Amino acid sequence: MPDSKTKMIQKLFIANRGEIACRTIRTCRELGIRAVVGYSDCDALSYHVKIADEAVHLGPSPVKLSYMDIGKVVDAARRTGCEAVFPGYGFLSENAEFAQACRSAGLIFIGPTSDVIARMGDKIATKKALADAGVPIIPGLPRLKSADEIVAFGKEAGWPIIIKAVAGGGGRGMQRVDSADQAKSALERAVSIAEKLFGSGEVYAEKYIRGARHIEFQFIADAFGRVVHLGDRECSIQRRHQKLVEEAPSSLLDDRLRNEMGQVVVKAAKEIGYVTAGTLEFLVAPDRRYYAIEVNPRIQVEHTVTEMIVGLDIIRLMIRMAVGTPLRLRQEEIRIASHAIQCRVNAEDPKNDFAPSYGTVTYLRQVSGPFVRADSGIYQGCEVPPFYDSLVSKICSVGKDRPTAIERMRRALSEFTVWGIKTTIPLLEKIMVHPDFVEGRFDTDFIDDHLSGLLDYVEDEDEILKISRFIAEVTALGKNPYSQ
Ligand code: ADP
Repeated sequence: MPDSKTKMIQKLFIANRGEIACRTIRTCRELGIRAVVGYSDCDALSYHVKIADEAVHLGPSPVKLSYMDIGKVVDAARRTGCEAVFPGYGFLSENAEFAQACRSAGLIFIGPTSDVIARMGDKIATKKALADAGVPIIPGLPRLKSADEIVAFGKEAGWPIIIKAVAGGGGRGMQRVDSADQAKSALERAVSIAEKLFGSGEVYAEKYIRGARHIEFQFIADAFGRVVHLGDRECSIQRRHQKLVEEAPSSLLDDRLRNEMGQVVVKAAKEIGYVTAGTLEFLVAPDRRYYAIEVNPRIQVEHTVTEMIVGLDIIRLMIRMAVGTPLRLRQEEIRIASHAIQCRVNAEDPKNDFAPSYGTVTYLRQVSGPFVRADSGIYQGCEVPPFYDSLVSKICSVGKDRPTAIERMRRALSEFTVWGIKTTIPLLEKIMVHPDFVEGRFDTDFIDDHLSGLLDYVEDEDEILKISRFIAEVTALGKNPYSQ
């Protein structure tokens, strides 16, 4: 039941699209909150628009003219009489100016303060805040100026070194430097990509951890300094530093290490002054030493696996924390007795260097059945436009242990059918049967190391696409092309 504080919100503006907007609408419905969304030109018939209670046109399809135009989004929220704004992930979710603009307009921003968002958006400031809170961080060089600095650091700390953008995110633009002679060109590349992607050429370097696993902790914090963590997630199955498969809990951590890291996370969130939900990401080296890499001050794509094993709706908790409801949950109450896996279905063609794939979804069979969950932003007949993130659906399976969750995921993926666009489904099916994945023997290089084998699949015949092409040919020629 919604508590009295949550009732302060009658209408919520969801400043996002796709699966995360749809997933948030569902929580709103359960809480009796009316869900309002914005949409761009190409999204007028999108799924989030169809299932929302109200939808407001924001502007043209490019993100800067619609979903990322702060003035338009704040204005849409106010005009529709919303009391609060939920940013989701991507778009304006990590934009401190947006959080401030919402608050200045009298809207409750469902996320941390703009000061915390600004600090967490600057990787050097984050590392400092984490180090001050006693969290181990990767040795590195802040605010890199010259290639000579990298060479000296590489000699001292050992190669490889990784160069990253201070304002970076989404796993993009990082450059690995394996030896001194690569330093100059890697630095130039890193600066130019950072300028292009993040609007600032500021970069820093840190030691590259070989054979690392990406393990992160979800935490929830109220406005009164109370914090609990909801356990860890394993996100090592990545391509080009972008996650593709996530699971909870990680098979690498034992209870001792899990508890130790969890305590570190809670202490850090308290010292940062965090409110609502956030994630502290770590790399865990083969010797099980762990190092924090960043804090994500927003909901994450993979929050679902945590929800499935702890039985809590994280977006519902975020709404509660944002309106000032005290956190009643105690750490001892968070018990984890199951295992969940999530696969990201992206509109991409893995066989064509993962090129984005867009167009009409001519046929869609969603997954269903026991112990699976689908968070989807598409429907049969919809258009997948070229302007946005390629993630179209997330499939989650849960079981009493990891092998059961894997079996269920294989079954779910075998049912999930999308025609009209290329997706990562066949690749995900290959990952789910790969012996190293099944045995839990992997690190963040798993996909790169096994790519040719993982791409060795035969795609389902896309019958509808073939038939529609045939009809188009017949129409164009005015005769049956196969009859001559
Ligand atoms: P972003 O903020 O762009 O997502 P992160 O710092 O979170 O970047 O790193 C994303 C991924 O890049 C990690 O999960 C890991 O695979 C890889 N990575 C980042 N830093 C290092 C490092 N120092 N050593 C090895 N891999 C790294």
